[in-house]
Amino acid sequence: MKNAFAAGIAAVVLAVAVAPTAAQAPADGAVLEKNIPIKVTEVAPGLFFQYHHQESNNAWLVTDEGVLVIDTRQHPRRGEELLAAIRRTTDKPIRWVVNTHAHGDHYFGNSVFKREGATVIAHRDTAGMMEHHFPLEMKRRQGYFRQQQFDPGEVRLVLPDVTFDSKVAITLGGRTVELLYLGAGQNPGDTFVFFPQEKVIFAGGPFSKNSWPNPSFTPSMAQWVELLRKIAAMEATVYLGGHGDIGTKQDVLDEARMLTDFDRGMREAVAKGMTKDEIIRNVKFERYKDVRNYYRMNLFISSYYHFLTTGRPENAYP
Ligand SMILES: [Zn+2]
Repeated sequence: MKNAFAAGIAAVVLAVAVAPTAAQAPADGAVLEKNIPIKVTEVAPGLFFQYHHQESNNAWLVTDEGVLVIDTRQHPRRGEELLAAIRRTTDKPIRWVVNTHAHGDHYFGNSVFKREGATVIAHRDTAGMMEHHFPLEMKRRQGYFRQQQFDPGEVRLVLPDVTFDSKVAITLGGRTVELLYLGAGQNPGDTFVFFPQEKVIFAGGPFSKNSWPNPSFTPSMAQWVELLRKIAAMEATVYLGGHGDIGTKQDVLDEARMLTDFDRGMREAVAKGMTKDEIIRNVKFERYKDVRNYYRMNLFISSYYHFLTTGRPENAYP
């Protein structure tokens, strides 16, 4: 009986050893996500949220004096689609564009809104990251451009016209929008866009509901988790992420837990002396395998291994 039990254990170990390795996503940004149709929701009067599961999200506020848009998508063609979606809700001029963070899937459509006359605003470090990492952002999206048959040559670097350091309030048509910087989370420059009357927060980089975020830019996972706890404690009921559907406070806290588990699991593996490839093969964070973007786990492990073993983010700034 004892031997049969031992044999059973051996068989299980063998099965784990020969199981397919975690997804090996290419580093060129090709998208393997489910094709869920784009959805626009009016989350508060005049405040719209566009959820695009395969790519990235946006929000826009419509007022009597014009429109404030949050993030501009991954290519000018997608920027045009976003503008068309906005035009289905209003014909008011586009006054402001906020870039929440410096990933190309959130600002490569800037040129479209610049043409419309918008003033682009971002945190000082986001502006710096956009300039510093533009070639990297182009490189890591070539697979996406190929998939979509978009010409990469159409992407122009359009930097913010205005930057801020810690907090700025924009008043437009009697509505107030606060841009808050609470420190680096997923990225230096991560901006929270807070609508105090509506109790809505758009947290483009640090929060994405039920979605694995890219950890290759963060200077501190602990600080990132702390930011999530801070925004969960704010006077808000609706949390909009750069990816994933409309979220709640609990979704924000769930991401904080997932990041904490990822950080702990990676630190334990490195402390055991495992190599990067051994971690990719054996440490799969399977509790979170149904979370969007999980197929990129090989890239996330690789990036975070770099951080833990060198003390610097793989995509450091400056
Ligand atoms: Zn993104």
